[in-house]
Amino acid sequence: MLLLAALLSLFSSHANASSQLTEQQINHLRMSLYKKVEAITQIPWYVLAACDQYERNVRKIKNDIPKQKGVIGIYIPPDKWAGTANPNLNDQNPVSIQLFGGIGMDGNGDGKAQMDHDEDVLYSFAHFLSKYGNDIENLKIGLWSYYHRDKTVGIILGHMKLFKHFGHLQLNEHAFPLPVRTDYSYRDTWGDARGWGGRRIHEGTDIFAHYGVPVRSTCYGIVEMKGWNRYGGWRIGIRDIQNTYHYFAHLNGFAKDIHVGQIVKPGQIIGSVGSSGYGPPGTSGKFPPHLHYGMYKDNGKTEWSFDPYPHLKLWERLEWQKEKK
Ligand SMILES: [Zn+2]
Repeated sequence: MLLLAALLSLFSSHANASSQLTEQQINHLRMSLYKKVEAITQIPWYVLAACDQYERNVRKIKNDIPKQKGVIGIYIPPDKWAGTANPNLNDQNPVSIQLFGGIGMDGNGDGKAQMDHDEDVLYSFAHFLSKYGNDIENLKIGLWSYYHRDKTVGIILGHMKLFKHFGHLQLNEHAFPLPVRTDYSYRDTWGDARGWGGRRIHEGTDIFAHYGVPVRSTCYGIVEMKGWNRYGGWRIGIRDIQNTYHYFAHLNGFAKDIHVGQIVKPGQIIGSVGSSGYGPPGTSGKFPPHLHYGMYKDNGKTEWSFDPYPHLKLWERLEWQKEKK
């Protein structure tokens, strides 16, 4: 605990210290802040962790907000922090901020409400949520009134579920979607033209393999979608903690008991390779069996696809390294 206090004080005196800390140390600091604020506000640590995780992901890919300096990723804009009617948007006085309806508060007891100070930010955010209540239904309302976007609330609820289930923040591990000791082949087909369904570009990588080869989750995540689509056939979508959406299409079928909302781990079997799609439900065999694997990112406003090929190569290599050990 003493070490932690020392680390924390070291950290707060060096705003850019996060770049010198390992991921494990950062997660340790994050967790201690969540637990500390949970003790004061009764908002469970995994709720704070989920919101913070969501915001740190958005912050990495958005250029119109300041980059994260501390260990907390939550960004509260100046007008929200100080209050929209506040003539001083850099106000650090908790009393005047409250007067102008801002949500900024003093979380570390130094008398100032600083919007770039981890403890102040996390405490202010948690205090805002706690006004709605700390049971899940009221938290949902609190989250909606803060973010005003259903998709954001849905993503945060997913993160929440994962953190609560695993009890820690270290959920970044990945797996190659097929067992590496099976017969398969793939190349970088990103952006290739498609033959069917109009002029769409190919948003993913096709991994050719035999019918029935197991398809596995590539990440820790939540099954967000499962079902038929005339292009993708039988498919599954999983969202991970980095807010990346992993898409698996043309499956032969699904693993038993796989359902929407379920928690999955890297390497967990979710279905098998097939050639479903390009027609009404059940259509199959219009092309050679393969797994279509796609990755999508969400920045809090829109979603776009990116090339999974380099990631597949990396995960494949890491798995071979593990196999050889
Ligand atoms: Zn494909």
